[in-house]
Amino acid sequence: MALDDLAGHVRTARERVVDLCARLVRAPSMTGKEGPVAELVRIEMQTLGLDTSIDAAGNVIGCLPGHGDSGRSVMLHAHMDIVDPGEAQRWTYGPYAGEIAEDQIWGRGAVDDKGCIAAQIYALGLLREAGIVPPGDLYVAAVVGEEIGGLGSRFLVEQMQPDLAIIGEPSNNTLRRGHRGRFEFIVTLHGRSAHASIPHEGRNPHYAMSRFLLALREAPMAQDADFGATTVVPTLAYVDQVSSNVIPAALSVHLDWRNAPGETVPQARALIERLLADTAEPGITSEVRIATREVHSYTGMQETIEHAVTPFWIAKHDPRLVAAQEAVSQALGRQIPVEVWPFFTDGGFLHAAGIPCIGFGPGDPAMAHVVDERLPIAQLLDATAGYMALALRLGDASVW
Ligand SMILES: [Zn+2]
Repeated sequence: MALDDLAGHVRTARERVVDLCARLVRAPSMTGKEGPVAELVRIEMQTLGLDTSIDAAGNVIGCLPGHGDSGRSVMLHAHMDIVDPGEAQRWTYGPYAGEIAEDQIWGRGAVDDKGCIAAQIYALGLLREAGIVPPGDLYVAAVVGEEIGGLGSRFLVEQMQPDLAIIGEPSNNTLRRGHRGRFEFIVTLHGRSAHASIPHEGRNPHYAMSRFLLALREAPMAQDADFGATTVVPTLAYVDQVSSNVIPAALSVHLDWRNAPGETVPQARALIERLLADTAEPGITSEVRIATREVHSYTGMQETIEHAVTPFWIAKHDPRLVAAQEAVSQALGRQIPVEVWPFFTDGGFLHAAGIPCIGFGPGDPAMAHVVDERLPIAQLLDATAGYMALALRLGDASVW
């Protein structure tokens, strides 16, 4: 199928693609509770003739098998879980109505990330219906746990190593060549507790922490011309005390550290430790660790994960990115720009496992996680054609 014909072909399946997206929106799927939506995804993949399986983490994998060694395996990737919609009455149609109005699909997850799932499933489904046998295996992975910790993708990369992944997250159907990583550090200062009426008896960690945070704010951060500089923000803060008339013995602050490509955890930690040394006070000791979190999936899998994920990025002139840009531009009949994402995606886990990634997805990123999240149907259909083009072109071993 010629790339220029894809958009027209997708329009013949308009009702089915829109209907799948709306049904996905109507199935609530907070992180750890993706079971019902996974079942819906599984049935749809199967109905479209894809080889379908659900792994131990609860990820649903569909495959359109290739015909031989001349191809590359390409995985289309999107996540099934959503974030809390908040108060239902603030939504025009309710968060799970899946209403279709004003040529848009309304509801939590329409943009982040169920439009991507619907477009990706139909991308492979429509190729199969058209009788196309791709050169390499094509996969569509609908994963669990993206919004909290990435359990689904962390598990997935231990099971599968496609040659390339297309990360489906809202990008307004432009291509994205990466994003910064995220480390979450917990800095704890230990002092000595005392009654607040006799401060000289204690070692109050608040003062040293203030000096440290001010120094951190002024510290030079790693720079990247395309991805921007590393940014660091203190977020949570707590002490080991519940009484307001006691000097705490310990004070902890979480640092949300968004790192530019190339910056590693040891480098970031070294900067923190140097600043702690520069701002140290007698009687106060410090401790720096990476935050951890218990996560679980609807299948019962449980894990303690560390909040330290490196960015994903692909070079501007990488032949795979150039081919992706040509393919989507041809399929959509307009020049598709390449940008970077301001937010983090599961692409970080795939990249860390050695799987090159390119981002592409329908919907406005500003619509993610907000009330009245909604996805223009035209973008959903274009994205389906875009995913078909990416799978066909990047699955061809003669292209890269
Ligand atoms: Zn998302």
